[in-house]
Amino acid sequence: MTDSLTAFAAEKLDQLETRSLRRRLVPTDRLDGLWVERGGRRLLSFSCNDYLNLSHHPAVKAAAMAAVERYGAGAGASRLVTGDHPVFGELEARLAALKGKQAACVFGSGYLANAGIIPTVMGPGDLILADELAHACIWSGAQLSGATVLAFRHNDMADLAQKLAAQRGAAARCLIATDGVFSMDGDLAPLDAVSSLARANDAWLLVDDAHGLGVVGPGGAGAGSVYPTAHIDLSMGTFSKALGGYGAYVCASAPVIDLIKTRARTFVYTTGLPPANAAAALAALDVIADDPDLVAGPLANARRFTRALNLPEATSAVVPIMIGEADRALAVAQVLESAGFLAVAIRPPTVPAGTARLRLAFTAGHTARDIDGLMSAIVGLVP
Ligand code: PMP
Repeated sequence: MTDSLTAFAAEKLDQLETRSLRRRLVPTDRLDGLWVERGGRRLLSFSCNDYLNLSHHPAVKAAAMAAVERYGAGAGASRLVTGDHPVFGELEARLAALKGKQAACVFGSGYLANAGIIPTVMGPGDLILADELAHACIWSGAQLSGATVLAFRHNDMADLAQKLAAQRGAAARCLIATDGVFSMDGDLAPLDAVSSLARANDAWLLVDDAHGLGVVGPGGAGAGSVYPTAHIDLSMGTFSKALGGYGAYVCASAPVIDLIKTRARTFVYTTGLPPANAAAALAALDVIADDPDLVAGPLANARRFTRALNLPEATSAVVPIMIGEADRALAVAQVLESAGFLAVAIRPPTVPAGTARLRLAFTAGHTARDIDGLMSAIVGLVP
């Protein structure tokens, strides 16, 4: 006999299937920072966030392996108990210097970071305004905080100003939250304008720059460095994209970081990131610092593609090819896969209804030939 939980799950899956919302994992062997193997076939990936191909960089792998040998496979406990290995402090100092902040806090992942940071500084009676396309973990953090949460239209400063004018007065504290580089669209937030509105309305600004670090701005310092006049109170990002690893950080003033380390539930009540991930992130930052040309690669490659196809000029490593309907996006991805390219279709609810797309991610390691090959395969398939 089927128990009621199992029956519930089966019914729910059926409903999701009918609405094209059922998802299935596809085992994917990443052979290096560029090539993957799926279903026994080698495919050139335009879907990994490993923008600098550092996940397989010899120095990054060596740092991770040496850290496993030295410190073991895991942190052993929450960082507040016995899990605070010195490598975290070293990484935090490095990140704070990179972002021009007093201090930093490393988290287990980007999702954990936003889910922990936002409720630490916001609560009932406060107001959070987030860009409608901000990453899911910003929304999770906002909801967990108990504050009033409103979306403003994507990168629409008039809408943000209007919502601030209407709502700010009633709230004790106010936080504006946005991605620096939007994960599914690749565009940048106008951080100078967002920051001016934040300051004018006594609001704090959180920027999630998961897709900006290592890709945009001088030396790959991120979206904040593209807008040097912007004042970002909470500068958050991850090690899981251009740094090729796993984990996340937030940089802020020293008291803010101390408060986060004291109160953020996703920091206090969770095991520290494995030290090897922190060592890998440090090594990746070294690689970037030693090879300033490397960070120019993803954007240059994305622009080669958008110029040739007369698409809006790329502003980051991410280029969306809008398709519209989910089934059509899947069909286009399938044709590309038959031609040897991995260009995964991204569908609702990850993106708004009617905007299913191929989300292309260009990396430093793609050659002109790789990009031209993708171009030839894509022309004629998309609107
Ligand atoms: N923020 C953004 C903008 C992201 O794209 C992602 C990952 N897709 C995250 C946060 C979450 O980071 P992580 O994968 O480290 O949990």
